[in-house]
Amino acid sequence: MKKKIWLSTPHLAGNELHFIEEALHTNWVTSKGGNIDEFEKSLSNFLKNDVQVCVLNSATSAIHLALIMLGVTSSDEVLTSTFSFCASANPIVYCGATPVFIDSEKDTWNMCPVALEEAINDRISKGNKPKAIIVVHLYGMPAKMDEITAIADKYVIPVIEDAAEALGSTYKGKACGTFGRFGILSFNGNKIITTSGGGALVCHTQEDKDKAVFLSTQARDNAPHYQHSQIGYNYRMSNVVAGIGRGQMEVLADRVEARRKMHDFYVDIFKDIDGVEVFSEPTEDFYSNHWLSAIVVDETKTGKSREDLRLAFLEDNIESRPLWKPMHLQPVFANSPYYGTNISEKLFENGLCLPSGSNLTDDERQRISAVIIKFFKA
Ligand SMILES: *Cc1c(COP(=O)(O)O)cnc(C)c1O
Repeated sequence: MKKKIWLSTPHLAGNELHFIEEALHTNWVTSKGGNIDEFEKSLSNFLKNDVQVCVLNSATSAIHLALIMLGVTSSDEVLTSTFSFCASANPIVYCGATPVFIDSEKDTWNMCPVALEEAINDRISKGNKPKAIIVVHLYGMPAKMDEITAIADKYVIPVIEDAAEALGSTYKGKACGTFGRFGILSFNGNKIITTSGGGALVCHTQEDKDKAVFLSTQARDNAPHYQHSQIGYNYRMSNVVAGIGRGQMEVLADRVEARRKMHDFYVDIFKDIDGVEVFSEPTEDFYSNHWLSAIVVDETKTGKSREDLRLAFLEDNIESRPLWKPMHLQPVFANSPYYGTNISEKLFENGLCLPSGSNLTDDERQRISAVIIKFFKA
C-alpha cells in the first residue's frame, strides 16, 4: 500500500516546543501567561485594523460566545450560511435559538446577498427580525462583504464572520475576520495553522475583549470568594496550547503561500481538462488563503462524476472529500427555514476538495497529478 496522502494535516514549524517548555518551566500552565498574551498580540498584529483577540479552546466556543455577547436567546432567529461546517450553525442551537439557512452565490460559494435580503424581509414579515448574521468565508474564499455589510447595516443586524477557514485571506486588502462586529478563527488540526485544537474571538473594543475573557473563564465577579452574577463558560485557551500557536504564527505567511501554490498546481493540471472548474477568486478584490483547493466536475462535459474521481484517488491511497453538505439538507436541521436557489446543493453534488496541505512533497504532488491525468484521459 502506498503512503496515505491526506487532505490537510498539521504542519509544525519548529519553535512550538520551545514555547510549550517555557509555559512548563514558568509554571504558567492554565488560562493565563506569556504564550496567551504573545499569541493574541501576534494575531492582532497580523489582522491589523486595531482588533483585540481573545483566544479560546475552539472556534465553536468562539461562535457561541459571540452569540451570547449579542444577546441571542431562545426566541431568536440567526441567519447563517447553509454551505458550511456544522459548527457555523450548532452554537445557534446551544443558545436555544433557531438557525435560518442562506444559500450560496456562484462566484464565491458564500452567502448570497440576494437570498440574505429576501430572508431578512420574510422573517421580519413573520414578526421575527433576525438577531444576527453569521457569514462564512468557505475554504478561505472571502464572502462578498461589501454587499453583506450594506444589507446588515440597512436592517441594523450585527454580523459575525466565521473566518475559521480564512486566516490569511483578505477582501479588498482587509483581513477576513475583521469586518463584522465579531470574527471567529479556528486552530483545529486541519486548519491553516493549528494549536492542536483552539480558536479565537476577534473583537473591536477592549470592552468586548474583556467581556469575552470574563465569560470564557467562568464569569467570576471581582471578590475574594467565588461570586457569580452571570452564567460563565470554560472556553479559554490554555497557556500550554497557546505556545503551539505562538510557534505557528512564525510561519503563517509561509503556510498561506504554500496553500496558494497548491491551488496554482491544480489550476495548471486542470487547464487542459474541459469541464472541470478549479475554485478561484472571482476578481482581484478577493484574496483566498486557499485553505482547501476544490473543483467542480461537470459530468455532462467530462462523462465522469466527482464520486468516481474520489474513488480513483482512494485506490491510490489519496484522500479527497465532497464539498460540505449544506446544513438545510442535514437531518438534524430538516425543520429549519432555508432561503435560496439550491446553488449549494449543486456544489455538494459535483464538488470535491483535493489534498491541499502546506507540507505536501513534490513526490506526493506527482502522485496526485498522475491520478487526475489518468482518470480524465482514460
Ligand atoms: C473548523 C470550522 C469551525 C469550527 O472550528 P473548531 O475550532 O474546530 O471548533 C467552524 N466553522 C468553520 C467554517 C470551520 O471550518
